[in-house]
Amino acid sequence: MISFGLEATAHTIGIGVVDGKCEVLVNVKDMFTPTIGKGFIPSDLADHHIAIAPQLLGFVKEKVDLNSVDVIAFSQGMGIPNALKVGATLARYLSLKWGKPLIGVNHGVAHIEIGKVKTGATDPVVVYLSGGNSQILAYANGKYRVFGETLDIPIGNALDVLAREMGLQMPGGPEIEILARNGDFVQLPYVVKGMDISFTGIMTDAIEKFKEGVSKEAIAYSMQETCFSMLTEVTERALAHTNKKEVLLVGGVAANKRLQEIMKIMCDERNAEMHVVPKEYAGDNGLMIAWNGILAYGSGQKVAIENSGVLQNWRTDEVEIPWLK
Ligand code: AMP
Ligand code: MG
Repeated sequence: MISFGLEATAHTIGIGVVDGKCEVLVNVKDMFTPTIGKGFIPSDLADHHIAIAPQLLGFVKEKVDLNSVDVIAFSQGMGIPNALKVGATLARYLSLKWGKPLIGVNHGVAHIEIGKVKTGATDPVVVYLSGGNSQILAYANGKYRVFGETLDIPIGNALDVLAREMGLQMPGGPEIEILARNGDFVQLPYVVKGMDISFTGIMTDAIEKFKEGVSKEAIAYSMQETCFSMLTEVTERALAHTNKKEVLLVGGVAANKRLQEIMKIMCDERNAEMHVVPKEYAGDNGLMIAWNGILAYGSGQKVAIENSGVLQNWRTDEVEIPWLK
């Protein structure tokens, strides 16, 4: 069984091809990078994806015999509509051209499943931190349930906006991680509300302190320490509530070494195992969509072309997960 996966929910367009044992046949992607000082403009994302798709497809064609593909999976949601529509349109076209079934994949579920298969985690509390999402989840009764999440912007977005305000390159998370190594702590608001968290107030305060003259290094360090401590607090409570014994970090922000370090201390104290998705599958990629295609198709899930419209707000906890039943 060979699955062809297409990712295009936000900044990245990616194609991955995988077999039923999660052997990677190919995984290519390209990320749109705005000029310094600018954010992502939705129509620019679509233009980028349209321009780059033929190159990616050409590369995939050189590596894989496309006649061997059995299913076409694409990220149907959640995401930025302009970007999603590029991926969905291409996936529908390929499905019709090759006469292969189409699978609409939930982007969040794909992040979780690639993390599990690549780390060997079986039933973890998942910490899903990216540019578009920040959720603490765990599987229960047929779905990945959200135990805690951001009440406003995602952590990756907060890091990127802060980085932009400090004149750093995008994506901002890795830039902040490097600066943070040489920073001192300044107090920022710490905002945990029950199991939920909020990042906008912290981000605004950090930007104000930067404008008042606090160093980039100190801002970066304090932002990381504050936000990652909040996330670790909620993750620890989710472990206690669910009695699970594993934590799995997924999404682009999972690549952050300081986040991994803080979470690991908590996991060691609770005798829980900590897993981190390998870096090449942490950020958005086509392979995770392809792998989800294998799982979904194996459980009888597919989508008719007429029902394959993009789902901008499709939450991770709305998806039935029959392959775990
Ligand atoms: P994704 O949306 O899953 O592709 O992840 C992209 C987000 O991850 C962006 O907001 C990046 O700034 C963030 N990111 C990537 N690497 C790191 C890192 N090392 N530390 C913090 N954030 C990161
Ligand atoms: Mg993502």
